[in-house]
Amino acid sequence: MSVSSEKGLRRKSSSGSGASGDGRMKKTPADFEFGTILGEGSYSTVVLAKEKKTGKQFAMKILEKKHIIREKKVQYVSREKDVLSRLDHPFFVRLYFTFQDSERLYFGLSYAEKGELLPYIQRVGCFDVECTCFYTAEIILALEYIHGLGIIHRDLKPENILLDEKMHIKITDFGTAKILDNAETTRANSFVGTAEYVSPELLTDKEACKSSDLWGLGCIIFQLLAGLPPFHAVNEYQCFQKITKLDYEIPDGFPELGADLVRSLLILDPTKRLGCDEFGGYAQLKAHGFYEGIVWETLHEQTPPAIVPYLPSNSKDGEALRSEYMMRDFKRDDEFDDHLLACWGLKESKETDSKQGDNELRRQLLEKQKRECKWDTFVNGELIVKMGLVDKRKGLFARRRQLLLTDAPHLYYVDPVAMELKGEIPWSSDLRTEMKNFKVFFVHTPNRTYYLEANGEAQDWCRAIDDWRLGKGKISDL
Ligand code: ATP
Repeated sequence: MSVSSEKGLRRKSSSGSGASGDGRMKKTPADFEFGTILGEGSYSTVVLAKEKKTGKQFAMKILEKKHIIREKKVQYVSREKDVLSRLDHPFFVRLYFTFQDSERLYFGLSYAEKGELLPYIQRVGCFDVECTCFYTAEIILALEYIHGLGIIHRDLKPENILLDEKMHIKITDFGTAKILDNAETTRANSFVGTAEYVSPELLTDKEACKSSDLWGLGCIIFQLLAGLPPFHAVNEYQCFQKITKLDYEIPDGFPELGADLVRSLLILDPTKRLGCDEFGGYAQLKAHGFYEGIVWETLHEQTPPAIVPYLPSNSKDGEALRSEYMMRDFKRDDEFDDHLLACWGLKESKETDSKQGDNELRRQLLEKQKRECKWDTFVNGELIVKMGLVDKRKGLFARRRQLLLTDAPHLYYVDPVAMELKGEIPWSSDLRTEMKNFKVFFVHTPNRTYYLEANGEAQDWCRAIDDWRLGKGKISDL
Protein backbone atom coordinates (compact mmCIF):
# COMPACT_ATOMS: atom_id res chain seq x y z
CA MET A 1 0.00 0.00 0.00
CA SER A 2 1.38 3.39 -0.89
CA VAL A 3 1.75 6.07 1.76
CA SER A 4 -0.98 8.21 0.25
CA SER A 5 -3.41 5.31 -0.15
CA GLU A 6 -3.49 4.89 3.65
CA LYS A 7 -5.38 8.15 3.76
CA GLY A 8 -8.88 6.73 3.51
CA LEU A 9 -8.34 4.25 6.33
CA ARG A 10 -8.28 6.81 9.10
CA ARG A 11 -11.11 8.24 11.14
CA LYS A 12 -11.68 11.97 11.21
CA SER A 13 -10.81 13.58 14.55
CA SER A 14 -13.65 15.04 16.55
CA SER A 15 -13.82 18.64 17.73
CA GLY A 16 -16.10 21.00 19.64
CA SER A 17 -17.89 20.05 22.84
CA GLY A 18 -20.66 17.59 23.70
CA ALA A 19 -21.25 15.00 21.01
CA SER A 20 -18.70 14.78 18.22
CA GLY A 21 -19.67 15.19 14.58
CA ASP A 22 -20.40 11.49 14.09
CA GLY A 23 -22.66 11.25 17.15
CA ARG A 24 -20.07 9.82 19.59
CA MET A 25 -19.91 11.55 22.99
CA LYS A 26 -16.94 13.74 23.69
CA LYS A 27 -14.31 12.17 25.89
CA THR A 28 -13.53 13.59 29.34
CA PRO A 29 -10.42 13.37 31.57
CA ALA A 30 -12.24 10.70 33.61
CA ASP A 31 -12.07 8.38 30.59
CA PHE A 32 -8.27 8.14 30.95
CA GLU A 33 -5.58 6.98 33.32
CA PHE A 34 -2.78 9.50 33.16
CA GLY A 35 0.78 8.24 33.42
CA THR A 36 4.25 9.66 32.97
CA ILE A 37 5.01 13.08 31.56
CA LEU A 38 6.44 12.62 28.05
CA GLY A 39 7.63 16.17 27.70
CA GLU A 40 6.90 19.80 28.34
CA GLY A 41 6.55 22.54 25.76
CA SER A 42 6.33 26.26 26.37
CA TYR A 43 2.53 26.12 26.51
CA SER A 44 1.73 22.51 27.24
CA THR A 45 2.53 19.32 29.07
CA VAL A 46 2.36 16.05 27.16
CA VAL A 47 1.34 13.08 29.30
CA LEU A 48 0.98 9.39 28.46
CA ALA A 49 -2.70 8.54 28.82
CA LYS A 50 -4.44 5.17 28.68
CA GLU A 51 -8.08 5.13 27.64
CA LYS A 52 -9.88 3.05 30.30
CA LYS A 53 -12.43 1.57 27.93
CA THR A 54 -10.12 0.51 25.12
CA GLY A 55 -6.72 0.30 26.80
CA LYS A 56 -5.31 2.41 23.95
CA GLN A 57 -2.39 4.68 24.69
CA PHE A 58 -2.26 8.31 23.61
CA ALA A 59 0.12 11.20 24.06
CA MET A 60 -2.25 13.69 25.69
CA LYS A 61 -1.22 17.27 25.13
CA ILE A 62 -2.69 19.33 27.95
CA LEU A 63 -2.87 23.10 27.68
CA GLU A 64 -3.87 25.50 30.48
CA LYS A 65 -6.45 27.89 29.06
CA LYS A 66 -5.43 30.78 31.34
CA HIS A 67 -1.78 30.40 30.35
CA ILE A 68 -2.61 30.34 26.64
CA ILE A 69 -4.71 33.51 26.92
CA ARG A 70 -2.16 35.30 29.13
CA GLU A 71 0.65 34.48 26.68
CA LYS A 72 -1.49 35.46 23.68
CA LYS A 73 -1.10 32.03 22.11
CA VAL A 74 -4.71 31.33 21.23
CA GLN A 75 -3.92 31.62 17.53
CA TYR A 76 -0.91 29.30 17.91
CA VAL A 77 -3.03 26.61 19.58
CA SER A 78 -5.92 26.83 17.16
CA ARG A 79 -3.50 26.70 14.20
CA GLU A 80 -1.93 23.55 15.59
CA LYS A 81 -5.33 21.94 16.02
CA ASP A 82 -6.45 23.07 12.59
CA VAL A 83 -3.36 21.72 10.82
CA LEU A 84 -3.21 18.46 12.78
CA SER A 85 -6.83 17.69 12.02
CA ARG A 86 -6.11 17.97 8.29
CA LEU A 87 -3.23 15.48 8.39
CA ASP A 88 -3.68 11.85 7.62
CA HIS A 89 -0.30 10.29 6.92
CA PRO A 90 1.90 7.73 8.70
CA PHE A 91 4.82 10.17 9.07
CA PHE A 92 2.85 12.69 11.12
CA VAL A 93 1.55 12.63 14.64
CA ARG A 94 -2.19 12.14 14.39
CA LEU A 95 -4.80 14.09 16.32
CA TYR A 96 -7.41 11.50 17.35
CA PHE A 97 -9.69 13.72 19.42
CA THR A 98 -9.87 16.90 21.43
CA PHE A 99 -11.91 17.83 24.48
CA GLN A 100 -11.80 20.37 27.27
CA ASP A 101 -12.82 21.07 30.84
CA SER A 102 -13.18 24.43 32.52
CA GLU A 103 -9.40 24.90 32.88
CA ARG A 104 -7.72 22.89 30.19
CA LEU A 105 -7.69 21.81 26.57
CA TYR A 106 -6.79 18.20 25.78
CA PHE A 107 -5.37 16.97 22.45
CA GLY A 108 -5.28 13.17 22.05
CA LEU A 109 -2.26 12.47 19.84
CA SER A 110 -0.67 9.27 18.60
CA TYR A 111 1.98 8.21 21.07
CA ALA A 112 5.47 8.36 19.57
CA GLU A 113 6.99 5.76 21.84
CA LYS A 114 10.65 6.28 20.98
CA GLY A 115 10.63 10.04 21.57
CA GLU A 116 12.57 12.68 19.69
CA LEU A 117 15.16 12.09 16.96
CA LEU A 118 17.61 14.54 18.54
CA PRO A 119 18.84 12.35 21.43
CA TYR A 120 19.59 9.57 18.93
CA ILE A 121 21.91 11.90 17.03
CA GLN A 122 23.49 13.01 20.29
CA ARG A 123 23.93 9.42 21.41
CA VAL A 124 25.90 8.25 18.39
CA GLY A 125 27.46 11.56 17.31
CA CYS A 126 26.22 11.27 13.75
CA PHE A 127 24.33 8.75 11.61
CA ASP A 128 25.91 6.57 8.95
CA VAL A 129 24.87 7.06 5.31
CA GLU A 130 22.25 4.29 5.35
CA CYS A 131 20.44 5.72 8.40
CA THR A 132 20.65 9.28 7.12
CA CYS A 133 19.33 8.19 3.76
CA PHE A 134 16.40 6.29 5.28
CA TYR A 135 15.32 8.92 7.79
CA THR A 136 15.66 11.88 5.44
CA ALA A 137 13.76 9.93 2.74
CA GLU A 138 10.90 9.65 5.26
CA ILE A 139 11.10 13.40 5.88
CA ILE A 140 10.97 14.02 2.12
CA LEU A 141 7.78 11.96 1.78
CA ALA A 142 6.28 13.82 4.73
CA LEU A 143 7.13 17.22 3.21
CA GLU A 144 5.80 16.17 -0.18
CA TYR A 145 2.52 15.29 1.53
CA ILE A 146 2.01 18.53 3.51
CA HIS A 147 3.20 20.74 0.66
CA GLY A 148 0.62 18.98 -1.52
CA LEU A 149 -1.98 20.13 1.01
CA GLY A 150 -0.65 23.69 0.93
CA ILE A 151 0.84 23.46 4.44
CA ILE A 152 4.30 24.75 5.34
CA HIS A 153 5.77 23.38 8.57
CA ARG A 154 8.22 26.28 9.09
CA ASP A 155 10.00 24.75 12.10
CA LEU A 156 11.50 21.54 10.83
CA LYS A 157 14.28 20.34 13.16
CA PRO A 158 15.29 17.09 14.90
CA GLU A 159 13.38 18.02 18.09
CA ASN A 160 10.15 18.08 16.10
CA ILE A 161 10.73 14.69 14.53
CA LEU A 162 9.45 12.01 16.87
CA LEU A 163 9.82 8.24 16.44
CA ASP A 164 7.10 5.63 16.83
CA GLU A 165 7.48 2.15 18.31
CA LYS A 166 8.91 0.82 15.05
CA MET A 167 11.35 3.72 14.75
CA HIS A 168 9.53 5.44 11.88
CA ILE A 169 9.22 9.21 11.99
CA LYS A 170 6.20 11.12 13.27
CA ILE A 171 6.61 14.82 12.64
CA THR A 172 4.99 17.09 15.20
CA ASP A 173 4.71 20.74 16.32
CA PHE A 174 2.41 22.57 13.97
CA GLY A 175 1.97 25.65 16.18
CA THR A 176 4.02 27.71 13.74
CA ALA A 177 2.83 25.99 10.56
CA LYS A 178 1.06 27.93 7.86
CA ILE A 179 -1.86 26.91 5.71
CA LEU A 180 -1.58 28.70 2.41
CA ASP A 181 -4.98 29.81 1.26
CA ASN A 182 -5.94 30.44 -2.33
CA ALA A 183 -4.81 34.05 -2.21
CA GLU A 184 -1.31 33.11 -1.13
CA THR A 185 -0.40 29.86 -2.76
CA THR A 186 3.32 30.18 -2.23
CA ARG A 187 4.22 32.64 0.52
CA ALA A 188 3.57 33.12 4.19
CA ASN A 189 4.89 36.12 6.01
CA SER A 190 5.37 35.97 9.73
CA PHE A 191 8.60 35.40 11.60
CA VAL A 192 8.81 31.92 13.10
CA GLY A 193 11.26 29.07 13.45
CA THR A 194 14.39 28.08 15.35
CA ALA A 195 17.65 30.00 14.83
CA GLU A 196 19.82 27.17 13.46
CA TYR A 197 17.26 25.93 10.97
CA VAL A 198 15.63 29.18 9.90
CA SER A 199 15.72 29.87 6.17
CA PRO A 200 17.48 32.94 4.74
CA GLU A 201 14.30 34.27 3.06
CA LEU A 202 12.61 34.44 6.43
CA LEU A 203 15.47 36.56 7.73
CA THR A 204 15.85 38.85 4.74
CA ASP A 205 12.33 39.13 3.28
CA LYS A 206 10.31 38.02 6.32
CA GLU A 207 8.71 35.47 4.03
CA ALA A 208 8.52 31.69 4.18
CA CYS A 209 7.46 29.40 1.38
CA LYS A 210 7.29 25.65 0.86
CA SER A 211 10.93 25.76 -0.15
CA SER A 212 11.81 27.04 3.36
CA ASP A 213 11.08 23.51 4.61
CA LEU A 214 13.59 22.22 2.02
CA TRP A 215 16.19 24.48 3.61
CA GLY A 216 15.32 22.86 6.97
CA LEU A 217 15.71 19.45 5.31
CA GLY A 218 19.20 20.46 4.07
CA CYS A 219 20.15 21.45 7.63
CA ILE A 220 18.90 18.12 9.00
CA ILE A 221 20.76 16.05 6.36
CA PHE A 222 23.93 17.96 7.24
CA GLN A 223 23.36 17.47 10.97
CA LEU A 224 22.70 13.73 10.67
CA LEU A 225 25.92 13.19 8.70
CA ALA A 226 28.13 15.67 10.55
CA GLY A 227 26.70 15.67 14.07
CA LEU A 228 25.96 19.41 14.28
CA PRO A 229 23.72 21.70 12.25
CA PRO A 230 25.53 23.63 9.47
CA PHE A 231 24.85 27.06 10.98
CA HIS A 232 25.57 27.36 14.66
CA ALA A 233 27.05 30.16 16.69
CA VAL A 234 27.25 31.46 20.23
CA ASN A 235 24.13 33.57 19.79
CA GLU A 236 21.15 33.91 17.45
CA TYR A 237 22.44 37.08 15.81
CA GLN A 238 25.69 35.43 14.71
CA CYS A 239 23.79 32.39 13.59
CA PHE A 240 21.52 34.56 11.40
CA GLN A 241 24.59 36.30 9.96
CA LYS A 242 26.02 32.95 8.94
CA ILE A 243 22.74 31.85 7.36
CA THR A 244 22.30 34.98 5.25
CA LYS A 245 25.92 34.71 4.07
CA LEU A 246 25.65 30.98 3.49
CA ASP A 247 28.65 30.69 5.75
CA TYR A 248 29.08 26.99 6.51
CA GLU A 249 31.70 24.36 5.84
CA ILE A 250 31.37 20.75 4.87
CA PRO A 251 33.81 18.96 7.21
CA ASP A 252 36.40 16.40 6.12
CA GLY A 253 35.01 12.90 5.96
CA PHE A 254 31.53 14.05 4.87
CA PRO A 255 30.20 11.59 2.24
CA GLU A 256 30.46 13.02 -1.28
CA LEU A 257 26.87 12.41 -2.44
CA GLY A 258 25.56 13.77 0.85
CA ALA A 259 27.66 16.92 0.34
CA ASP A 260 26.20 17.35 -3.15
CA LEU A 261 22.68 16.98 -1.82
CA VAL A 262 23.27 19.48 1.00
CA ARG A 263 24.74 21.98 -1.49
CA SER A 264 21.62 21.60 -3.66
CA LEU A 265 19.32 22.36 -0.74
CA LEU A 266 21.25 25.04 1.15
CA ILE A 267 20.85 27.65 -1.56
CA LEU A 268 19.96 31.24 -0.68
CA ASP A 269 17.45 31.60 -3.50
CA PRO A 270 14.43 29.47 -2.50
CA THR A 271 13.42 28.99 -6.15
CA LYS A 272 16.74 27.23 -6.87
CA ARG A 273 16.54 24.53 -4.19
CA LEU A 274 16.35 20.97 -5.38
CA GLY A 275 12.76 19.75 -4.90
CA CYS A 276 11.02 23.13 -4.97
CA ASP A 277 8.21 23.67 -7.48
CA GLU A 278 10.41 25.83 -9.70
CA PHE A 279 13.29 23.38 -9.62
CA GLY A 280 12.06 19.92 -10.53
CA GLY A 281 9.66 19.29 -7.66
CA TYR A 282 9.89 16.26 -5.41
CA ALA A 283 10.54 13.85 -8.28
CA GLN A 284 13.87 15.57 -8.89
CA LEU A 285 14.81 15.51 -5.21
CA LYS A 286 13.96 11.82 -4.86
CA ALA A 287 16.04 11.05 -7.95
CA HIS A 288 19.21 12.45 -6.35
CA GLY A 289 22.04 9.88 -6.24
CA PHE A 290 22.06 9.95 -2.43
CA TYR A 291 18.69 8.15 -2.49
CA GLU A 292 19.66 5.49 -4.98
CA GLY A 293 18.15 2.20 -3.85
CA ILE A 294 15.39 3.76 -1.74
CA VAL A 295 12.01 2.17 -2.43
CA TRP A 296 9.84 5.21 -1.79
CA GLU A 297 6.43 3.55 -2.10
CA THR A 298 6.91 1.15 0.82
CA LEU A 299 9.18 3.19 3.07
CA HIS A 300 6.71 3.27 5.98
CA GLU A 301 6.44 -0.52 5.90
CA GLN A 302 10.17 -1.17 5.81
CA THR A 303 12.23 -1.94 8.89
CA PRO A 304 14.37 1.11 9.55
CA PRO A 305 18.11 0.45 9.64
CA ALA A 306 19.67 0.27 13.09
CA ILE A 307 21.07 3.61 14.15
CA VAL A 308 24.84 3.32 14.02
CA PRO A 309 27.43 6.06 14.10
CA TYR A 310 29.37 7.10 11.04
CA LEU A 311 32.99 6.51 12.01
CA PRO A 312 35.53 8.48 10.06
CA SER A 313 38.34 6.21 11.29
CA ASN A 314 38.80 2.82 9.66
CA SER A 315 36.50 0.86 11.90
CA LYS A 316 37.44 -2.54 10.41
CA ASP A 317 41.04 -2.02 11.48
CA GLY A 318 39.70 -0.84 14.78
CA GLU A 319 37.73 -4.03 15.28
CA ALA A 320 40.75 -6.21 14.51
CA LEU A 321 42.90 -4.24 16.88
CA ARG A 322 40.29 -4.42 19.54
CA SER A 323 40.01 -8.21 19.40
CA GLU A 324 43.77 -8.42 19.53
CA TYR A 325 43.75 -6.38 22.71
CA MET A 326 40.95 -8.40 24.23
CA MET A 327 43.24 -11.46 24.07
CA ARG A 328 45.93 -9.76 26.08
CA ASP A 329 46.39 -9.79 29.80
CA PHE A 330 45.48 -6.33 30.97
CA LYS A 331 47.60 -6.46 34.11
CA ARG A 332 48.72 -3.13 35.40
CA ASP A 333 52.39 -2.50 34.62
CA ASP A 334 54.87 -0.33 36.42
CA GLU A 335 54.85 2.42 33.86
CA PHE A 336 51.15 2.97 34.36
CA ASP A 337 50.52 6.69 34.65
CA ASP A 338 54.16 7.44 35.28
CA HIS A 339 53.79 10.53 33.21
CA LEU A 340 51.11 11.83 35.53
CA LEU A 341 53.24 11.38 38.61
CA ALA A 342 56.27 12.71 36.82
CA CYS A 343 54.24 15.83 36.05
CA TRP A 344 53.89 16.53 39.72
CA GLY A 345 57.27 15.15 40.84
CA LEU A 346 55.61 12.63 43.09
CA LYS A 347 57.25 9.46 41.93
CA GLU A 348 59.36 9.08 45.05
CA SER A 349 56.37 9.17 47.34
CA LYS A 350 55.46 5.77 45.93
CA GLU A 351 57.96 4.13 48.27
CA THR A 352 56.48 5.56 51.44
CA ASP A 353 52.98 4.86 50.26
CA SER A 354 52.44 1.47 51.91
CA LYS A 355 53.70 2.75 55.26
CA GLN A 356 51.49 5.82 55.38
CA GLY A 357 48.38 4.28 53.99
CA ASP A 358 46.12 5.44 51.21
CA ASN A 359 44.41 8.20 53.15
CA GLU A 360 47.60 9.92 54.07
CA LEU A 361 48.93 9.54 50.53
CA ARG A 362 45.70 10.88 49.09
CA ARG A 363 45.92 13.91 51.38
CA GLN A 364 49.51 14.56 50.28
CA LEU A 365 48.68 14.13 46.62
CA LEU A 366 45.70 16.42 46.94
CA GLU A 367 47.81 19.11 48.57
CA LYS A 368 50.37 18.83 45.85
CA GLN A 369 47.64 18.87 43.21
CA LYS A 370 46.17 22.06 44.70
CA ARG A 371 49.56 23.76 44.68
CA GLU A 372 50.92 22.60 41.36
CA CYS A 373 48.21 21.36 39.06
CA LYS A 374 46.31 23.94 37.05
CA TRP A 375 43.44 21.50 36.47
CA ASP A 376 42.70 21.20 40.20
CA THR A 377 40.02 23.92 40.10
CA PHE A 378 37.84 21.81 37.81
CA VAL A 379 37.55 18.62 39.86
CA ASN A 380 35.62 19.57 43.00
CA GLY A 381 38.43 18.63 45.37
CA GLU A 382 38.81 15.13 43.92
CA LEU A 383 42.17 13.56 43.18
CA ILE A 384 43.13 13.42 39.52
CA VAL A 385 44.32 9.91 38.73
CA LYS A 386 44.76 10.34 34.97
CA MET A 387 44.69 13.31 32.68
CA GLY A 388 45.61 14.24 29.16
CA LEU A 389 44.56 16.00 25.98
CA VAL A 390 41.99 14.25 23.84
CA ASP A 391 39.97 15.19 20.79
CA LYS A 392 36.33 14.84 21.70
CA ARG A 393 34.37 14.13 18.57
CA LYS A 394 30.77 15.01 17.92
CA GLY A 395 30.00 13.63 14.52
CA LEU A 396 32.65 14.93 12.16
CA PHE A 397 33.63 17.80 14.43
CA ALA A 398 36.40 17.39 16.97
CA ARG A 399 37.16 19.63 19.93
CA ARG A 400 40.41 19.53 21.88
CA ARG A 401 39.74 18.85 25.56
CA GLN A 402 41.76 18.08 28.69
CA LEU A 403 40.23 14.89 30.05
CA LEU A 404 40.47 14.45 33.82
CA LEU A 405 39.75 11.12 35.51
CA THR A 406 39.41 11.46 39.28
CA ASP A 407 39.27 8.95 42.12
CA ALA A 408 35.59 9.84 42.84
CA PRO A 409 35.47 8.51 40.10
CA HIS A 410 34.43 11.21 37.66
CA LEU A 411 35.44 12.16 34.13
CA TYR A 412 35.61 15.90 33.56
CA TYR A 413 36.56 17.64 30.32
CA VAL A 414 37.96 21.14 30.10
CA ASP A 415 38.57 23.54 27.22
CA PRO A 416 42.36 23.91 27.57
CA VAL A 417 42.51 27.27 25.80
CA ALA A 418 39.63 29.05 27.53
CA MET A 419 40.42 27.06 30.72
CA GLU A 420 36.73 26.42 31.12
CA LEU A 421 35.00 23.29 32.36
CA LYS A 422 32.91 22.10 29.40
CA GLY A 423 31.23 19.15 31.01
CA GLU A 424 31.39 15.77 32.61
CA ILE A 425 30.83 12.30 31.21
CA PRO A 426 28.02 11.07 33.48
CA TRP A 427 29.43 8.29 35.60
CA SER A 428 27.25 5.31 36.45
CA SER A 429 27.56 1.55 36.85
CA ASP A 430 26.43 1.30 33.19
CA LEU A 431 29.42 3.24 31.90
CA ARG A 432 31.57 1.16 29.52
CA THR A 433 34.75 1.78 27.58
CA GLU A 434 35.54 0.44 24.14
CA MET A 435 38.89 0.69 22.46
CA LYS A 436 38.67 1.13 18.71
CA ASN A 437 42.37 1.36 17.93
CA PHE A 438 45.52 2.86 19.46
CA LYS A 439 44.07 6.32 19.05
CA VAL A 440 40.29 6.05 19.28
CA PHE A 441 38.22 4.91 22.22
CA PHE A 442 34.57 5.22 23.20
CA VAL A 443 33.00 5.84 26.57
CA HIS A 444 29.47 4.47 26.37
CA THR A 445 26.89 5.88 28.79
CA PRO A 446 23.16 5.05 28.75
CA ASN A 447 22.31 8.25 26.86
CA ARG A 448 25.36 8.92 24.79
CA THR A 449 28.54 7.47 23.38
CA TYR A 450 31.56 9.73 23.78
CA TYR A 451 33.98 9.40 20.88
CA LEU A 452 37.48 10.29 22.03
CA GLU A 453 40.85 10.36 20.31
CA ALA A 454 44.12 10.33 22.24
CA ASN A 455 47.20 9.62 20.18
CA GLY A 456 48.56 6.23 21.24
CA GLU A 457 46.76 6.52 24.59
CA ALA A 458 43.42 4.83 23.91
CA GLN A 459 44.44 1.65 25.70
CA ASP A 460 45.71 3.53 28.76
CA TRP A 461 42.54 5.54 29.03
CA CYS A 462 40.26 2.49 28.74
CA ARG A 463 42.31 0.63 31.28
CA ALA A 464 42.36 3.50 33.78
CA ILE A 465 38.62 4.17 33.43
CA ASP A 466 37.82 0.47 33.77
CA ASP A 467 40.00 0.11 36.86
CA TRP A 468 38.18 2.93 38.63
CA ARG A 469 34.85 1.68 37.32
CA LEU A 470 35.46 -1.79 38.75
CA GLY A 471 36.74 -0.41 42.07
CA LYS A 472 40.24 -1.71 41.31
CA GLY A 473 41.81 1.72 41.08
CA LYS A 474 44.22 2.30 43.93
CA ILE A 475 45.87 5.52 44.94
CA SER A 476 48.84 3.46 46.10
CA ASP A 477 49.30 2.30 42.50
CA LEU A 478 49.76 5.84 41.24
P1 ATP B 1 6.79 24.33 22.05
O1 ATP B 1 5.30 24.18 22.08
O2 ATP B 1 7.34 25.17 23.12
O3 ATP B 1 7.37 24.58 20.70
P2 ATP B 1 7.09 21.55 21.88
O4 ATP B 1 6.57 21.61 20.51
O5 ATP B 1 8.31 20.72 22.12
O6 ATP B 1 7.37 22.95 22.46
P3 ATP B 1 4.93 19.96 22.76
O7 ATP B 1 4.38 19.66 21.43
O8 ATP B 1 3.98 20.40 23.81
O9 ATP B 1 5.93 21.11 22.84
O10 ATP B 1 5.75 18.70 23.25
C1 ATP B 1 6.52 18.68 24.41
C2 ATP B 1 7.37 17.44 24.42
O11 ATP B 1 6.54 16.30 24.60
C3 ATP B 1 8.08 17.19 23.09
O12 ATP B 1 9.33 17.80 23.08
C4 ATP B 1 8.17 15.66 23.03
O13 ATP B 1 9.35 15.22 23.65
C5 ATP B 1 6.97 15.21 23.84
N1 ATP B 1 5.88 14.83 22.92
C6 ATP B 1 5.06 15.66 22.24
N2 ATP B 1 4.20 14.99 21.49
C7 ATP B 1 4.47 13.68 21.68
C8 ATP B 1 3.91 12.45 21.16
N3 ATP B 1 2.91 12.47 20.29
N4 ATP B 1 4.44 11.29 21.58
C9 ATP B 1 5.46 11.27 22.47
N5 ATP B 1 6.02 12.38 22.98
C10 ATP B 1 5.53 13.58 22.61
